[in-house]
Amino acid sequence: MQLQANIKTKIVFLFSVLLLHPIASTAQVTGGNPLLAGATQTEAIKINEVIFQATGFGNSFLIKTSEGNVIVDTSLSVNAPRHKKLLSEIDDGPIKYIILTHAHPDHTGGVDLWRQEDTEIIAQEEHFEFVNYQYRLRSLFGQRNAAQFPALAGNIVQVRSSIPEPANQDDNYGAEIKPTILFDDEYRFELGGIEFVIMHSPGETYDHLSVWLPQYSAVFVGDNYYESFPNMYTLRGTKPRWALDYANSIDKILALEPEILIPSHGDAIFGNTNIEAAAGRYRDAIVYVHDQTVLGMNQGKDVYTLMEEIKLPADLDIGEGYGSIAWSVRGIFENYIGWFDGNPSTMFSTPPSDVYPDIVALAGGADAVGKLAMTYFESDAFELALHAADIALKADPTNETALNARLAALNKLLENSDNSNESGWLRFGIRQTESAAIGQ
Ligand SMILES: [Zn+2]
Repeated sequence: MQLQANIKTKIVFLFSVLLLHPIASTAQVTGGNPLLAGATQTEAIKINEVIFQATGFGNSFLIKTSEGNVIVDTSLSVNAPRHKKLLSEIDDGPIKYIILTHAHPDHTGGVDLWRQEDTEIIAQEEHFEFVNYQYRLRSLFGQRNAAQFPALAGNIVQVRSSIPEPANQDDNYGAEIKPTILFDDEYRFELGGIEFVIMHSPGETYDHLSVWLPQYSAVFVGDNYYESFPNMYTLRGTKPRWALDYANSIDKILALEPEILIPSHGDAIFGNTNIEAAAGRYRDAIVYVHDQTVLGMNQGKDVYTLMEEIKLPADLDIGEGYGSIAWSVRGIFENYIGWFDGNPSTMFSTPPSDVYPDIVALAGGADAVGKLAMTYFESDAFELALHAADIALKADPTNETALNARLAALNKLLENSDNSNESGWLRFGIRQTESAAIGQ
């Protein structure tokens, strides 16, 4: 009964958290409901005389030329109609090209809406593998997205379910490849007197590209720059995002000496001095975390020690509203050497948790271990509380003391969290624990 009352309190608390943080000025990837970015926008943002932005998760851009228009990124399918309306109000000429900075659904969701009969769609050639990769693991990503972004999940699933089934059961390729032009290192074209230089710039993904408009000294950088430490490992699951790829791609951008840097999340940065400062700091923060991880690995430190130890120095602190240093450290560590931690007991298929029930019995039962979890919680050791609760719940999945401790620790971690991805998974854990408790 007490648990039920607790749950109601927590639900009310969660609602108030949501109401107090309704988000979203333009284009925040940090905090709150990312789906609402740009929701109140009434007209497209004019970046310069030819470039216009519709804001969302992520942004869509229109480049106006005398011979027709170019779209860079198309946002999530749920944002795309609003973006199309805003940008078409600027100019409703023919869409000659759609350029996709990479194959994540928040950039490709509006392709079908924008595409006309003669529209060329441009992506880097790794787009092919990346789309197939997302398709190959579509069920898993559907589950992960539903957990991490419940508000976005339907939209992402909708995008995925529009992809045709593979031709046969042995064919795990078969995703629909929409681009009509795939390039390797660089692709150039000219339209209405405007020169477009499209460059492979791996980072956020290995199919990532950047678009350079030399006449306007403007560069579209997709997701290789935004206002947070990058999500170099994303909890919903991803192939490696290589730290040095980000750094090299940012260097390539800075070498152009741009006057306008246009990210697909967040707002444009104007002035080369400002761009050098912001993107240079961003690159230096990534390189710092990479180098410290490599140093610690060579010193024989384990991944948890490095996750705990490595912090950005104050002059490189670019915030962790979206990506996290600790997950990035672990991402870099495991990208380099994979999952084995050097302990022979972890080579085998028997997980450590198989021994938990016997240890719980020795400790006096699940309730005793649940109380230990609550003791950890009461001394603000929330992560230890979660581990202790996991051990108790492995022995008795319905133990009320352990469920209460888990719920309390998750809620406290959520209250303390400034990271939207972390918050997403904490909310998932809370829902999961509440339903386990309600099922009693
Ligand atoms: Zn994105």
